[in-house]
Amino acid sequence: MKAFVDKDTCIGCGLCPSISPEVFDMQEDGKAGVIVDEVPAGSEDSAKEAEENCPVNAIKVE
Ligand code: SF4
Repeated sequence: MKAFVDKDTCIGCGLCPSISPEVFDMQEDGKAGVIVDEVPAGSEDSAKEAEENCPVNAIKVE
């Protein structure tokens, strides 16, 4: 499972790293980024939760 952040859509709200810090962080550009190549097995639920809760639907987890 991989996670993606659309930087053009992200508004930098900071929600995804608070939900799934193993997968997302806030980066120097003020947008969220993905810090792992593959979502770790134990973080799949939280990554999906971040996807569902992103206010601008900038996250894709598949
Ligand atoms: S939850 Fe969405 S808008 Fe907020 S920082 Fe993450 S990707 Fe960006």
